[in-house]
Amino acid sequence: MIRVTVWNEFLHEINQPEVAAIYPDGIHGCIADFLGKEEDITVRTATLSQPQNGLSEEVLCDTDVLVWWGHMAHDRVEDATVERVHRHVLGGMGFVGLHSAHHSKVMKALLGTTLNLRWRHDDRERLWCIAPAHPIADGVPQQHELPIEEMYGEPFDIPEPSETIFLGWFSGGEVFRSGVTYTRGKGRIFYFQPGHEQYPIYHDPVIRRIITNGVRWAYLPCRTREPIPIENPEPLEK
Ligand code: ZN
Repeated sequence: MIRVTVWNEFLHEINQPEVAAIYPDGIHGCIADFLGKEEDITVRTATLSQPQNGLSEEVLCDTDVLVWWGHMAHDRVEDATVERVHRHVLGGMGFVGLHSAHHSKVMKALLGTTLNLRWRHDDRERLWCIAPAHPIADGVPQQHELPIEEMYGEPFDIPEPSETIFLGWFSGGEVFRSGVTYTRGKGRIFYFQPGHEQYPIYHDPVIRRIITNGVRWAYLPCRTREPIPIENPEPLEK
């Protein structure tokens, strides 16, 4: 079984009735619900307000893939939480960053750039799959229309991705690297752009398929449970 933890800051759903109407159990509840229907996935959720932001050492040791949604409270994620998540990704925990997770402290720590981008509310997106042979694209159509989605546009300040699987096109003519992968240490990272909280993006079956594929891809079956050394190794004896 792939042990998934879905993390959400869980603030929009509490403060904005229109978001709560789309996600009555929170964005994390919605994502956990569809992932949990897969036979090979077991899911827990964690949120910002929990002790240690819900991501204690014990939880992370029991997590194969961490899914992350955050937006308005990136700065309220404790630095110690960021350190733990970062260390676990280097040790082989998969990480799936969704939508505005691009500006999370965790993604900035993992990728090392500003991750700044251009944006505009209330646009329309055509999501192009440009790597149809990639496991994350399995069962995904060549193009998929999101009738309403926030525009995220280039330039997107990320390091050159290992793989670019999806490109987003928006009605203003902007384009965006909407689905990209990296490895950091032993950990696999998938960033996926769709998912603005005011629109029902995570109810879309194609989006669900892509996130599910992303979780399976990021899962490292051979992940060791050894503590990850922080210190540089001693010189080798001949
Ligand atoms: Zn957004």
